[in-house]
Amino acid sequence: MIRKAITIPHKLFATVAKPVPMMNNLLKSQAYINGCWVDAISGDTFEVKNPATGNVIGHVPNMNAKDAQLAIDAAKRTYESDEWRNLTAKQRSSMLKNWYNLINEHCQEIADIMTAESGKPITESKGEVAYGNSFVEWFAEEARRIYGEIVPSSLPNRETIIMKQPLGVAALITPWNFPLAMITRKAGAAIAAGCTVVIKPAEDTPLTALAIIELAEKAGIPKGVINVVTTNKAAPVGDLFCKSPDVQGISFTGSTEVGKMLFRNCADGIKRISLELGGNAPFIVFNSADVEKAVDGAMISKFRNCGQTCVSSNRFFVQEGVYDRFVELIKQRVEDLKIGAGDGDGVQIGPLVNKMQFNKVSGFVDDARKHNSKIITGGKALPEHGELFYAPTIVTDLSPAAKIYTEEVFGPVVSIIKFKDEQEAIQKANSSRRGLAGYFYSENLQQVFRVAKRLEVGMVGVNEGLISAAEAPFGGVKESGIGREGSHHGIDEYVEIKYICMGNLKY
Ligand code: ADP
Repeated sequence: MIRKAITIPHKLFATVAKPVPMMNNLLKSQAYINGCWVDAISGDTFEVKNPATGNVIGHVPNMNAKDAQLAIDAAKRTYESDEWRNLTAKQRSSMLKNWYNLINEHCQEIADIMTAESGKPITESKGEVAYGNSFVEWFAEEARRIYGEIVPSSLPNRETIIMKQPLGVAALITPWNFPLAMITRKAGAAIAAGCTVVIKPAEDTPLTALAIIELAEKAGIPKGVINVVTTNKAAPVGDLFCKSPDVQGISFTGSTEVGKMLFRNCADGIKRISLELGGNAPFIVFNSADVEKAVDGAMISKFRNCGQTCVSSNRFFVQEGVYDRFVELIKQRVEDLKIGAGDGDGVQIGPLVNKMQFNKVSGFVDDARKHNSKIITGGKALPEHGELFYAPTIVTDLSPAAKIYTEEVFGPVVSIIKFKDEQEAIQKANSSRRGLAGYFYSENLQQVFRVAKRLEVGMVGVNEGLISAAEAPFGGVKESGIGREGSHHGIDEYVEIKYICMGNLKY
């Protein structure tokens, strides 16, 4: 949650990130295949660094396609074993509940690891443990409600039975921005459905993934059900997932570029794939809005995880009548943000996750500047905090030619565009090939329904800047992806529908 803080010069906040406590028993240095903690066959490892300090916090195996094949083999063997197949939905549900309880008990240790490897403020890491774990709880409950149907037949002496069966082995590829939640949102649903999985966590944040897998093992999830392959060379592993006939489905969260490539590579095998890709979320403030409420929502939507979430607002459209007030209020709030290493007291803005992200954000702001946009606060690196810190920034008078207008900045940059009427706002908001989340603020009921229906996105926040929840379907339209995660629809990605025709019945 973003808290308001008093304005103090940034350098007073330069905090030294603490190392992950040595006693943290969840800090692992091996990958997990077939119920065993293992090194890469090659023996290679790679470093995991704290983005706030650049310090190395751990090493994990740098695996390749051979290791990934072992993981697929283990997942396949387990999937086909009687022990796994014959478990009841209630038994799978109990395992997930055990996992949920253990993650809850170890919230602090997991959050410490997450903050150390991702840079996010510790309060946000704890928030992510709770949020990510809500998917384990949700799918523990949903495991028992994967219902089939019996449909009245059009012919006599027949019954039409429809059942849902697990897909098989699912490969899960996850990003660094939510190192726990993106795993549980996929693995929770997959295991609930009766699938087994191979997880490929992001190279920046493999330690959180391994920490929760240690707990999955303690929770009694059988060997081979969850396998984790760590690598900083994702392409060959991704290729294998797409080509292997033993992987029945892929779930990917990450960049649109990689998502498109995986989608293409799955075409040959007609492989099921669900994609949660980048967004370009509009955040519209109408004249009818409660402006203070809109500023609160804007801060949460924009600055959570330093703007590095795919549902972060990317383009702020503010109507003429409330423009000056909105800009004045948000400027104050942005300048009050407390910056520092994620484990510092009250820190709200940490570093960007890596140099690539840093270069992208600073490059986008420089590009906006070149296109005559105004930088009214921020717009610079903050080396006094560390190499990867970038100042929370507000850009106004954003030119449609600037990159930020069409591309996701994934950083702490608010870009504001003034508009005249509702029609113009909707047209501009929809003028993107992305369509993940969209937000708008209005106290006018007619306008609320009109605009909510017309925004071309998968998720709409009306007078709300933080909308993700286990019970709600998460996903996008256009190039933001296919499929939904969370909610009861999340199970659909991991089941096949089978029709069984019962004929020649004697009634
Ligand atoms: P981001 O911008 O979030 O780093 P990526 O799409 O590069 O987006 O990364 C998301 C996940 O996809 C990470 O786990 C990363 O290792 C993985 N990844 C990157 N390239 C490939 C690839 N060619 N095949 C499979 N996975 C990949």
